[in-house]
Amino acid sequence: MALYNLEAVVIRSRNLGEADRLLTLYSYQRGKVRAVARGARRPRNRLRAGAEPFTHGDYLLFSNKGLDNISQCEIIGSFRAIREDLIKTAIGAYILELLDALTEEEEPVGDLFPFLLAVLETLSRGGDLELILRSVEVGFLARLGYKPELGQCVNCRGVLKDAVRFSAAQGGALCFGCSRTDSDAFAVSAGSLAALDYLLNTPFDQATKLRVSATMRTQLKDITASLIRSRLGQDLKSASFLALVKETTGTSL
Ligand SMILES: [Zn+2]
Repeated sequence: MALYNLEAVVIRSRNLGEADRLLTLYSYQRGKVRAVARGARRPRNRLRAGAEPFTHGDYLLFSNKGLDNISQCEIIGSFRAIREDLIKTAIGAYILELLDALTEEEEPVGDLFPFLLAVLETLSRGGDLELILRSVEVGFLARLGYKPELGQCVNCRGVLKDAVRFSAAQGGALCFGCSRTDSDAFAVSAGSLAALDYLLNTPFDQATKLRVSATMRTQLKDITASLIRSRLGQDLKSASFLALVKETTGTSL
């Protein structure tokens, strides 16, 4: 029985059997890992708190024939500020599902784990939640190898002037001459591309202080949504929950 340690965040937790939980962890050491927390739904179980989504902890696991089992968990942070706020919970659930959907098991990616922690800390503190969400979406995509081309035409590498369009299929902006190469490409302003580039290359604290017009916000959302859809081929389940929260609270997201 081999024991190993993971510093990880619980990105998914679902019921298994009578009292267990099947966790999807995103870890520093191994990337995404699935493991069973035996008895974690029992009231006094020592793994109970460590099996909640958003929990950041040190997990001790042991390998099994099938799925590995969690033996111990030492909680580092539980991100209560996210769990106790409906809008932040909706955004957080969407972020975790997005990470789960974009990643494969046991494929650790450079700085994705510290980025995830920074994302959850920023979401806890709050601020311009819509810009935080856009920064997260484009940040995940870039770290997983799908960084959009925003500074030049993705098709001909030419300079972007007027009448720029964005192509999710090609993964970047198209100049006027190349706009016909993708019939699904949509018009975006140079300002929106610059804003997205800024979000991508600036730490959260500064990035989310950016002043962005309503039109640009819509375009930023169209860009990240189209990129995610083109990667995943479908919408996320939590996206509809997020839309419902947005509608009922009047929050711009
Ligand atoms: Zn071009």
